[in-house]
Amino acid sequence: MTLFYSHAPGRTHAMASPVRPLKRALFSRVPATRIEVDLDAIAANTRVLKQACAPQTSLMAVVKANAYGHGAVHVAQTVLSHGAAWLGVARMAEAVQLRDAGIDVSILVFGNTLPDRAVAAAEHGIRITLTGPETARTIHAAARAAGTVVTAHIKIDTGMGRLGLCPGLDMDRTLADIRSIMQLDHLKIEGIYTHFANADAADKTHARQQLALFSELLDHLDADHLLPRIIHAANSAATLTLPESHLTLVRPGISLYGLCPGPGVDSPQLTPALSLISEITQVKQVPKGFPVSYGSTHVTGRPTVIATVPVGYADGYSRNLSNTAHMLVKGQRARVTGRVCMDFTMIDVSHIPEVGPGDEVVVMGTQGDDTVSADELASLSSTIHYEVTAGLTSRLPVCYRKKEPAP
Ligand SMILES: *Cc1c(COP(=O)(O)O)cnc(C)c1O
Repeated sequence: MTLFYSHAPGRTHAMASPVRPLKRALFSRVPATRIEVDLDAIAANTRVLKQACAPQTSLMAVVKANAYGHGAVHVAQTVLSHGAAWLGVARMAEAVQLRDAGIDVSILVFGNTLPDRAVAAAEHGIRITLTGPETARTIHAAARAAGTVVTAHIKIDTGMGRLGLCPGLDMDRTLADIRSIMQLDHLKIEGIYTHFANADAADKTHARQQLALFSELLDHLDADHLLPRIIHAANSAATLTLPESHLTLVRPGISLYGLCPGPGVDSPQLTPALSLISEITQVKQVPKGFPVSYGSTHVTGRPTVIATVPVGYADGYSRNLSNTAHMLVKGQRARVTGRVCMDFTMIDVSHIPEVGPGDEVVVMGTQGDDTVSADELASLSSTIHYEVTAGLTSRLPVCYRKKEPAP
């Protein structure tokens, strides 16, 4: 097993920086508070998703938002060597970070792209999303002025209510818009796609309605010989539960990270990849009546051992976890006492023998026989696991674990 450590991946290094020796001294040791990502878990999850599809279906790994907090570059390298062929991101800057790291596969940007950026990105094989004929025309004009061709995928809104042309409101208009986009000779329409709003629900009615509308549109395009080469719809939930939605390419995100997309998906083969680790800074034996943290919302009801952990809401550990969540110390649960601060959180370790400074704390993840899952933290803070991992902030360094490559 190797543990390697990558602070702020993708950031460019100023070679002549006077703080280089300081950085080397600081970062040669694995930092106390950190994200740990198990790249073998990500590799295994990628294989599970690839195997859920027909062999000819391509896998686009969604690595937006710094790979949901897991670190986009190392995740991308891992998924690409275990079955993914494409990468999907939300914003152009995310695509550029991947290219900058030497990753040369096709990348699709899901969000909107300004014309000059679309033209600049086209030279680097970055595909953009077109959401309507107006943006297509402005991007086409910029591409023609620059003497290049921009490769794009057209987005169809079949019921997500977010981005794209709406065949459910007006099929003929949508078809006319697609035809007009396809006539623009400085745009190459390589793909067409839609996105599900409810594929993670147990009831697949809405997902099936979206797919039926998308299929109707595709049939019309096919009849006119206008079907783009790459057709896609499936997020993680649809990849795992709705095989008829796989089409030519699937776009899983959350499941690559080992998290189950939602209540309507059974995914026992997935392994969570991310842990949030810290270590105890200070331990105090305090009497009954001792107030803890801002607002003194917790006052000890008996003699208590309080441990201070250097993780807080500036790391993405939600303040809504105040007085409710647990962390793991020596394999046992220790409850958060008082409010979560920006940089510190206090836990009650009275029931755990011999806790001292430097002891490992698992804030999220497994220690011994117990686990604090992203789901557990999500439900305590009234959100979803997507937000728990994607909400971890860039202050946290990411350490990667993977088995030694075979000699
Ligand atoms: C985020 C996203 C995905 C991945 O969704 P998961 O639920 O994480 O699998 C796929 N497609 C688009 C357009 C997305 O924005």
